[in-house]
Amino acid sequence: MSFRPPVRDLAFALNDVVGLEPLIALFPEFDQETLMAVLEAAGELAAGVLGPLNRIGDQVGAKFENGQVISAPGFKAAYQEFVDGGWNGLSADPEFGGQGLPRAVALAVFEMISAANMSFGLAPMLTLGAIEALTAHGTDRQKALYLPHLTNGAWSGTMNLTEPQAGSDLALVRAKAEPDGEGTYRITGQKIYITWGDHDCAENIIHLVLARLPDAPEGVKGISLFLAPKKLVSEAGEIGEANALRPGGIEHKLGIHASPTCTMLFEGAKAELVGAPNQGLACMFTMMNSARLNVGIQGVAIAERAYQHALAYAQERRQGRSPWSTDAVAPIIDQPDVRRTLALMKAKIEAGRAICLATAVAADVAHLSADPEVKARARLREELFTPIAKAWCTDVGVEVASAGVQVHGGMGFVEETGAAQHYRDARIAPIYEGTNGIQAIDLAGRKLGLGGGEAVRQLVADMKATVAALTAPEVQTVGARLASAIDAVEHASAWMLEQKGTPNALAGATAYLKLLGDTVGGWMLAKGALAAVDRPDAAARGALARLYADQVLTGAAGLAGGVMAGSADLEALTAGVLAA
Ligand SMILES: Cc1cc2nc3c(=O)[nH]c(=O)nc-3n(C[C@H](O)[C@H](O)[C@H](O)COP(=O)(O)OP(=O)(O)OC[C@H]3O[C@@H](n4cnc5c(N)ncnc54)[C@H](O)[C@@H]3O)c2cc1C
Repeated sequence: MSFRPPVRDLAFALNDVVGLEPLIALFPEFDQETLMAVLEAAGELAAGVLGPLNRIGDQVGAKFENGQVISAPGFKAAYQEFVDGGWNGLSADPEFGGQGLPRAVALAVFEMISAANMSFGLAPMLTLGAIEALTAHGTDRQKALYLPHLTNGAWSGTMNLTEPQAGSDLALVRAKAEPDGEGTYRITGQKIYITWGDHDCAENIIHLVLARLPDAPEGVKGISLFLAPKKLVSEAGEIGEANALRPGGIEHKLGIHASPTCTMLFEGAKAELVGAPNQGLACMFTMMNSARLNVGIQGVAIAERAYQHALAYAQERRQGRSPWSTDAVAPIIDQPDVRRTLALMKAKIEAGRAICLATAVAADVAHLSADPEVKARARLREELFTPIAKAWCTDVGVEVASAGVQVHGGMGFVEETGAAQHYRDARIAPIYEGTNGIQAIDLAGRKLGLGGGEAVRQLVADMKATVAALTAPEVQTVGARLASAIDAVEHASAWMLEQKGTPNALAGATAYLKLLGDTVGGWMLAKGALAAVDRPDAAARGALARLYADQVLTGAAGLAGGVMAGSADLEALTAGVLAA
């Protein structure tokens, strides 16, 4: 099924739910006309070029032949079209060839690209990670040498963190970097699961690699960040001979078959240090927020694609009588349970989209605002929302894609319709870029405590201001349910702050993240309903907000109970007890 770019919904989320006023002030070149032109053109690229390759990418996938990765059919030409169109450097620094657009706009574009073809979108996503790491920590020479090629997409980038024994716990990284007497280093070691680690779409690949210098301290304090190109680069920027690194193979995976996930072998590869020695993890952390947000929007993207698929099927497939149809055999969309499923899918997508875009706007403001108070407030919001955007939205991606399979009935389980691909593709997003369990610990352990709980206090105040505006009869129940959910958030947050650092907080973290995500999602839908008053879509937006409030926000008090249940039972359920 072809992909229909949700340009109108993205523009609504940006303009009416999140609000672009702060960005118009911070980006002098940016205005409504630019926004719409960018979204329309990106939508065309996504629907016309990338979407049609999604199926073949799944069926054929990337291949590993003669020690090299061959991209899936059509991907090389599509990549060329993507970079020729200037899509690679949308939010990158104009000094190095980027377009300097707000991050929020680039994220909206990335949603459409990922919805059309999640595997394809991962290539520019990882390149963006390399651009951000070099922008923040590279020397002037490194920036001048590498950033223009990464920004225009002629070269792509990778992130080499994971090793067989070092996944969530990067303190266990073992790859070694030895000085070679020429001011550079030689890296040896094996990295696994490296996204787009090798391919034939770009002229060169710039690998950012975590490794240890000789005599580096144990643990995270002894990890440094290095840059190792696939092909060596002269000081004049010319591509030279192959570096001593290669892909050892690609993984056979549940989904995203066209994204080559490589084992990378570093066999004395020439590399340069990025940032200070032993500061590698800190360097990676500066770009972690942005990478996590990009994965969050992948969850929204795949949900949108699955929703479009299911919506079309539900209008064609006929089964049984319906209370809402005079047809002897009604389309299944007229069955209340199917309608509920589809409407909740849509509500969660809109909620997740707004959460991600609000995080991006906060990141833009935190980066650029000249007002220290505004900057600090935006930074707190970005920090608080990032783990929610990553984990809640990718969980929604899986949930919605699963609902899409369900709407298709048996046709969802067989591969023919394509609904199954969305479900398979969606499943990676809660795992990579820090598993959702790790995001929950980040939220409960670090973000909640920022400024002694200030980030959540500010959020609660903002949400309460919206509740106060929900007075019209059609949104009163939304206001009441949102108010109860906010109470649950306040209660659970106070408890989590008290329990900080204890097993109780760790045991309650995932439920706490879900409670916050569910509540903030309801807040976003409520803001949408308020913004739509007096517009043609007022009734639809009001109904979506009410449905979400009735079906999701009503669960907040129960979730708070789960947050505060403590860890005693878990402690008792030891491996021995569970395996008995
Ligand atoms: C398709 C794909 C692409 C990837 N791309 C890249 C890439 O480009 N670059 C890169 O470096 N890596 C990449 N990864 C690796 C990915 O980031 C890791 O798989 C992920 O961080 C989890 O690590 P792990 O697989 O070792 O799982 P583990 O760390 O072994 O975790 C297993 C389970 O235990 C849980 N867990 C672990 N520790 C804790 C804890 N302290 N508290 C609570 N729960 C915990 C986790 O949440 C998880 O559920 C990719 C992986 C895949 C599958």
